[in-house]
Amino acid sequence: MILDGKKISEEILSDLKEKINKLNLTLAVIQIGDNQSSNVYINQKKKLCNKLNIDFNHQKFPLDISEKEVLDLIDSLNKDKTTGILLQLPIPNQINAEKLQNRINYKKDVDGLNDVNKCNLINNKPGIVPCTAKGIITLLNKYDIEIAGKNVVVVGRSNLVGKPISNLLLKKDATVTVCHSKTKDLAKFTLEADILIAATGIKHLITSSMIRKDAVIIDVGISKIDGKLYGDVDFENVKNKSSYITPVPGGVGPMTIASLAENLYEAYILQKEE
Ligand code: NAD
Repeated sequence: MILDGKKISEEILSDLKEKINKLNLTLAVIQIGDNQSSNVYINQKKKLCNKLNIDFNHQKFPLDISEKEVLDLIDSLNKDKTTGILLQLPIPNQINAEKLQNRINYKKDVDGLNDVNKCNLINNKPGIVPCTAKGIITLLNKYDIEIAGKNVVVVGRSNLVGKPISNLLLKKDATVTVCHSKTKDLAKFTLEADILIAATGIKHLITSSMIRKDAVIIDVGISKIDGKLYGDVDFENVKNKSSYITPVPGGVGPMTIASLAENLYEAYILQKEE
């Protein structure tokens, strides 16, 4: 069965639209440089904002901008009526991404990448959770896929995806194994997975012989090769062996966008409670 992230995300957004419509929310997106993938992702965010009547404040800087100038912008956004702030990655090496992310008021940190929000996630406290990880849990819940007690293998350990999804799954009582680029004999682990989450960006890393029959397969990866998008999972050969699988595109991607809208609403509530 296909896990239809596009359909579920549309349902979430239509529910949210009613709540958000008259709140005058603002999303600020900070971009440094002109990375083509970033342009595509920012455009998706702009469309989301248009759909939900959210002000979209795109702050685009040249590659040679100083760290201080970006910090100054964050300071002013922290003080004004902006609801959510996110730093579009990647950014150039002369600028420390973590420093910028930590400068964002944690109540406006809609990417959930500020140390306060990271700590809250690890310590099972309420906070803003990174969008992709949140979207995956929402998708599993919407399809009534049980998480507690399941063997979940996460392939990838990034701050953006691998680590937050692992923490969320632990919170939901899964037995979580995290694999990465230095893991020896990846298949030994993936074959044990009731739920397999692949987040590497390596086209078709996960093949049919690497999964257990009837496993749930969540494909986060996106690789663009010759204009075509591929996931980490060899979808055509894996789909009949798995019980549920996300397509690429149309699976985790739209869930990430829907979660961003949810995070923005959450940020609004947190600031309202101040
Ligand atoms: P990243 O490059 O930061 O991390 C990749 C991870 O894969 C690393 O932890 C690395 O150890 C692991 N890895 C690399 N080679 C491996 C191998 N051979 N075996 C096992 N593990 C290996 O990337 P990221 O930011 O976590 O993103 C991962 C992928 O997910 C990318 O393709 C990205 O575009 C995509 N992504 C998609 C969404 C979405 O909404 N669909 C959101 C975020 C990221």
